[in-house]
Formats: sequence, structure tokens, C-alpha cells
Amino acid sequence: MKKTLRFWILTLITFSMIAILSSSLFSSFIVTKKSLIENSLKQNEVYSLKLAQMSEEVFESMQANLEARKPDVIKHMDDPKELTNILDQLLISGKNFNSLSVIGNNGVAIATSPNIGIAGNKIDSAGVQEALLKKESIITTPYKAVTGRLVILISTPLFDDANNYLGMLNGTIYLQEDNFIQNILAEHFSEDGSYVFVVDKEGTLIYHPEKDRIGESVQKNMVVQSLMKKESGSIEVFNTQGEQFLAGFTYIPASEWGVVSQTPYESSLNPLNGIMFKVFFYSLPFVCLFFVLAFLLSERLASPLKKLALFTLDSQNEDTNLEKLKLSTWYFEAKQLTETIENYHKKQEETVADFKHQSLTDPLTGLKNRRYSELLFADLLEHHQLFSVIMIDIDHFKRVNDEFGHNAGDEVLKFLANKMQSTSTKKDVCIRLGGEEFIIILPGTLLQDTYMLAEKLRIEIETSIPPTKKKITISSGVAEHKITKESLSDLMQRVDEALYLAKSQGRNKTVISK
Ligand code: GH3
Ligand code: MG
Ligand code: MG
Repeated sequence: MKKTLRFWILTLITFSMIAILSSSLFSSFIVTKKSLIENSLKQNEVYSLKLAQMSEEVFESMQANLEARKPDVIKHMDDPKELTNILDQLLISGKNFNSLSVIGNNGVAIATSPNIGIAGNKIDSAGVQEALLKKESIITTPYKAVTGRLVILISTPLFDDANNYLGMLNGTIYLQEDNFIQNILAEHFSEDGSYVFVVDKEGTLIYHPEKDRIGESVQKNMVVQSLMKKESGSIEVFNTQGEQFLAGFTYIPASEWGVVSQTPYESSLNPLNGIMFKVFFYSLPFVCLFFVLAFLLSERLASPLKKLALFTLDSQNEDTNLEKLKLSTWYFEAKQLTETIENYHKKQEETVADFKHQSLTDPLTGLKNRRYSELLFADLLEHHQLFSVIMIDIDHFKRVNDEFGHNAGDEVLKFLANKMQSTSTKKDVCIRLGGEEFIIILPGTLLQDTYMLAEKLRIEIETSIPPTKKKITISSGVAEHKITKESLSDLMQRVDEALYLAKSQGRNKTVISK
């Protein structure tokens, strides 16, 4: 069997709902993912900026500290003890240096704090050589100090009043030990895999949570390349280890370093699953509510059409009545269809009734015909009902035809039919069996009353003027059906014989068959 309209409505709704739900989940997914990435990039950018600002402030204060003690140092260049004192004080107050030293213009260390055992030695490390050469304030790139440590040197030159170069005052930062950069950055190491690293102007790691990597060159990293171009911003990037990160980075002009804060791409998207679940979870009640409404509506939509379809399936059944279906035709198509089917059904009923009427009616006289008489007799016999029959024949009817023509003969037949109907009672049935052969069936009428009616009709015809203006007469045979015993053909034979008798006794006569 074909699927119903309701099935298709529900299928359509279900598919639409799934499509809408998936597309809204998909678009939420895309939008949320994008905003999570943007957030993470922005956070890292802001964060790297904050760290850069903090670092810059510390740098400036470190340099200011060195500058502030310069006059004292210059004054005591010949007094290593006093110089050591000055450096000790500076180390305590400055906090951010790992060590301090004064080195003469010949490259020999005059004093250090703390005592790292190099006083009196000529220092030929890269940083000191660079400072000696440049004779200006510098922050070096990382290098191996004579102590074997990886360090950065913050150096300021010393000149006497006559502008003679006396040497330099140096602060160092031990990159792989506790230092101020670590103090600022280490606490920011996060559980989601985010971390911060710092590179110098040549792309060498100055700070990294994995200490072993400090001093390593990460020039190839895209972020580092941007920093080396003195740029700041944020970017999605693969680090030198091939892992994807969302990175924010800021260039520090004072030291020409760059600070990078980065979060693994995957962990930035961690909240995504939870958010998607929530989106799904919150939309679920609406989906369910909508589905229930759709379910009910589909019933209301499909119901009139379904009833109509069943009605047309069942329309052979004469009892089927469209009004009984109580159709709620609340929308155009259902209303239109119902009206059309209703009209069609009515017309069909009328046509059937019309055909039925025609099939049981004599077209010339409008009386019932032989077929009808057969049905009526069968019914009377079946119900063992008392009835009588009058058989009527026009006397010398051939002559009417001969004298006035066949059409006039027809008019005379109609004239007789009218008289039969006007003379008989409502329950009597007047029938034209064919030709000029007529009967009247009288249910529930006894023989005597039947005879009276036949006589009344005979007299009525005899005394009336027919359409031909020439009077006619009729002869009749009358019989009452003998209940239970008599067959229809026996009855008809008796009444026929009575009629024959009436003819043979001179016509214009009614004869009773006993
Ligand atoms: P009788 O008194 O013996 O009955 O004489 P009758 O001339 O009436 O004889 P009968 O009943 O045998 O004749 C029947 C005639 O009725 C024969 C036919 O021409 C005529 N007839 C039969 N059917 C029709 C009809 O439908 N229209 C017309 N105009 N004449 C019909
Ligand atoms: Mg006849
Ligand atoms: Mg006749």
C-alpha cells in the first residue's frame, strides 16, 4: 500500500529538523571555533605585550641602577676593595643582576660581586670583548662566560672627566639559573600547555621553560622571524618542533628582545566539545516541542484528505454519507476537494436514482413498467401480503389506431393511464405491462373492493371524452391472490382468463376470477 500523506509530512518535517539542527550545530561549531582561536590569539598577544612591558621596565631600572653607581665606580677604579663594596650593595639593591663586575680598559676584571674568582684575570669572553670594542652601553646576545655559564651582559662604559676610557661596569644575567626573566615569566607556565619564551635580536632563546633549550637558535620559527623584523602581533604557527600553536608576540625595543606567549592549537579548542554539547542540549527541548506540534499538525492536515480518500474508496456503499464524516476543512485544498467530491457524489446519486426511475418507468405514460411489477410481486409474495390485481385492455384499440393514427393511439394510452391513477388510491400501483396492456396491483385490498375500483374506472372511461373525442371503453379481469397456495403465473393466468371472458361477453365489462 502507498504511504499516507501524514507519513510524508512527518518524513519531510523530520528531515527538515535534522537538516536545520545539523546546519545550526555546524555553523555554531565554525563560529565558536573561530572565536576560540581569535580569543586565544588575542589573549596571547595581550599577554606577551604585558610581559614585554614588565621586562622593559626591569631593563630600564637595571640600566638606571648601573648609571647611578657609575660616578662612585669611576672614583674608586684603583681601589678593588671599595669597588667590591659598591658592587655588593648594587647587587642587593638592584636584585635583578646575577652578578656584577668592573673590568678595566685592558680587559682585566678589577672587582666582582659575588666573588666568582675572576678578579685579576683578563676576561676574553665574547660579551666583554664586544663591550671593550664598542665602548658604549650594550646588551649582548647570549654567550658562554669564562665561568662556563650562558650569560647576557648589560654593560655601561666608564670614562673619566677627561673622557679617557677606563673600562666598564657590567651586570650579568645567568640565563640557565634563577634570574629576573624567570621571575617574571616562569609563573606563567600554564597547565593547558601554554608557555612563554623570549628570544634575542638574533633569534636565540634567552628564556624557555625547558632550560636546556636556552641558547638554542630558533630563527626558523615564523614568529621569531616577525620579531627579528621588530614586529608585534599574533599568528597561528608551527614551532620548530612541528607543533601547531596560537601565538602572541611583542618586540621589546630596549633590549631588542621578543616575548612570545603561545597556546597549543588543540587545547585552545578544548572548550569546543562542551559548548557544542550545550548548544545541542539547549536546542533539544525546542526540537522536541516542535516535533510534537508538527505531529499534531500533520494529523490535522492529513485527516480531512485521509477521510476523503477512504470515503471515495468506500463510495460504492450507498450508505456512505459525506456529512457523517465531520470533515474539518480548515484549509483551501481540503475545502475545495470536499465540496467537489460532495457535488460529484450528489450528482452520482441523482444519476443513479434517475436511471433507477427510468428503468422502472414506462416512458410513454409515466406509469411503472413490467420490471417494476416483477419486483413488486416478488416483494408481496415474499412477505405473504394480501393483494389483488386488475388487468385492463382497451376495447377495439386497433380501430383507434386505424382511425386516428398511431400518435393519437398513444394519446389515448396516456389518457387511460391518467384515469387509472386518478381513480386508484395512493397505495395502488398502476402499471403498463406493454402495448395497450395495463394492470393495477392493489396491496391489502380484498376482491370486492378491487372489483368496485375496476368498475369505477370502467365507468369513468366510458363517460369521459378521450383525446380523439371518440368515446372508448375498457374491459377488465379482476382476481385476488390466494395467499400461500398460488404462484404468480397462476394468478396472472386467472386474471387473463377473466379479461378474456369480459371480452367474449361483449366488452366494456369487468369480470371477477373467483
Ligand atoms: P380487443 O377489443 O379485442 O382488445 O380489440 P383490439 O383492437 O384492442 O385488439 P388487440 O387488443 O389485440 O389489439 C392491440 C392493438 O394495440 C394492436 C396494436 O396496433 C395496438 N398497439 C399496441 N401497442 C401500441 C402502442 O404502443 N401505441 C399504439 N398507438 N397502438 C398500440
Ligand atoms: Mg390487447
Ligand atoms: Mg384491446
